[in-house]
Amino acid sequence: MRVLALNCGSSSVKSALIDAASGRRVHEMQVEKIDSEADLKSAVVRVLSDYQRLALAPEAVAHRVVHGGEKFVAPTRLDDAVLNEIDRLSVLAPLHNPPAVTAIRQALQSLPDVPHVAVFDTAFHATLPEHAREYALPNDVRQRLGIRRFGFHGINHSHVAASVADYLQISPRIICCHLGNGASVTAIEQGRSVDTSMGMTPLEGLVMGTRAGDVDPGVLLQLFRSGEFGVEALDELLNKRSGLKGLTGVNDMREIEKRASAGDENCQRAITLYAYRVRKYIGAYAAAMGGVDVVAFTGGVGENSSLIRARCVERLDFLGITLDESRNRAARPSADDPIVPLGSKSSRVHVLAVRADEELAIAREAAMTLDR
Ligand code: ADP
Repeated sequence: MRVLALNCGSSSVKSALIDAASGRRVHEMQVEKIDSEADLKSAVVRVLSDYQRLALAPEAVAHRVVHGGEKFVAPTRLDDAVLNEIDRLSVLAPLHNPPAVTAIRQALQSLPDVPHVAVFDTAFHATLPEHAREYALPNDVRQRLGIRRFGFHGINHSHVAASVADYLQISPRIICCHLGNGASVTAIEQGRSVDTSMGMTPLEGLVMGTRAGDVDPGVLLQLFRSGEFGVEALDELLNKRSGLKGLTGVNDMREIEKRASAGDENCQRAITLYAYRVRKYIGAYAAAMGGVDVVAFTGGVGENSSLIRARCVERLDFLGITLDESRNRAARPSADDPIVPLGSKSSRVHVLAVRADEELAIAREAAMTLDR
C-alpha cells in the first residue's frame, strides 16, 4: 500500500510517499517557514496536489499527531468525530495539536476518497505503569484536572524498539535516547514503554535545544513570585529560551560543538550538562528495568554526534556499557544501513546508533491499522 505520511507542525509540512510493505520512499516533499494558519492550509493543498500532478496519488494518508491524551492509544482512522476529539486535546498540546488539526481538516477535504489515519506520539507510552505515570500530587487534583505523565516521541521510540528487536533477534531491555531538537529517553521492556523522560508535556526530562528539561518546580514558583514572569512569559521562557539556547545562545548542537572545541566555555559547560543529564537517565532506567541489554542513540544529535554519544556513556562501564571509539567516530546510520553498532567487543550491552524515520514509522502504522 502506498501511504502518504504527513507531519505538519506550526512552521513546516514534511511529507513522504512510502511503499509500506518494502519501506521504500517513493517521493518526498517539504515546505518550511510557514508562518500562519492560512499558509499551513495552502501548503497542505500544494503538497497534496503536487503528488497528484506527479501521478503519485496515495492509497492512504497517515498523519502524525503529537497528543492523543487518554483516549487515543493506537493509530485511529480519522473522521469528523475523531478530529473533534483531537482538537479538544489541544489544551494538553497547545503548540502541537492545533496545526495538526488544521492540516488534517484540509487534507480530508482535498483527498476525501482515501482513508486517513492519525498516528499519535503519546500512544506508545500508554503502557507506562502507574508508578511511572503518576506525579505525587493530591489524588483529587490529579483526577479533576487530568494531571499525569504521557510521554512523547513514541512514534520513533517504538520504531527503534521494533527495529532493534528485529536486528538482534531478541526482545531486549532497551534504553532509547532520542536526541534531536526535542529530546527524551525511554525505557523499553518486552517491546513496551515502561518509563520515559518527558511527562505531561514535552518540558520534562533532558536538556533540549530550547527547553530546560527537569527543573525544581520551586524555581517556577520563584520566577512567578518575582513578578517578572506571568504564565505566558514562563511558557515562553521554558519552551523557547532555555536548554542549549539558554546556556549558549544557540540551539544547534553542531554549532555548539564547534564553539566548544574553539574554547567557548559556555558551550563546553552546556555539552557537559547535556550529556550528564542523559547519563543520569540511562542509570535510572537501568535501575528501573533491573538491567539493560541495549542503549540506542537516535535523532539528529544521537545519530550524528560521536562526541555526545561518548560523553553520555562515560563512566558507565560498571553497567557493562563501553564504546569502541573508532566505530563510534565513524558511525552514521543511513536509510540503507539504519542500525550501526558502536559497542566495544567486551561491552556486555549493545550500544547502537539507529536512524529515526518518523515518516516510515507512521506510514507503516497506518497501513497495519487499515489492514486489520
Ligand atoms: P528535530 O527534533 O527538530 O527533528 P533533529 O532530530 O533533526 O531535530 O535534530 C536536530 C539537532 O541535531 C540539531 O541540534 C543539530 O545541530 C543536531 N545535529 C545534526 N547533525 C549533527 C552533527 N553532525 N553533530 C552534532 N549535532 C548534529
